[in-house]
Amino acid sequence: MISCGMCGHDFTNEEGAACQAGCPISKGCGLVTCPACGYEFPPTSRLVELVKSLLKPRNALGRT
Ligand SMILES: [Zn+2]
Repeated sequence: MISCGMCGHDFTNEEGAACQAGCPISKGCGLVTCPACGYEFPPTSRLVELVKSLLKPRNALGRT
């Protein structure tokens, strides 16, 4: 499931992938479209957020 960052609507990757058929950018641009509000964004998961949170402290330790 993907959660829309704009309205919080939960939808499946298949529902969001409807964008990719008629996307003005390119076919299969990788963005998902919220069926509720039309907001387009790259699909992220809690796993991605977890990885981000794990990488952040390492960067903060002085390794730029
Ligand atoms: Zn939405």
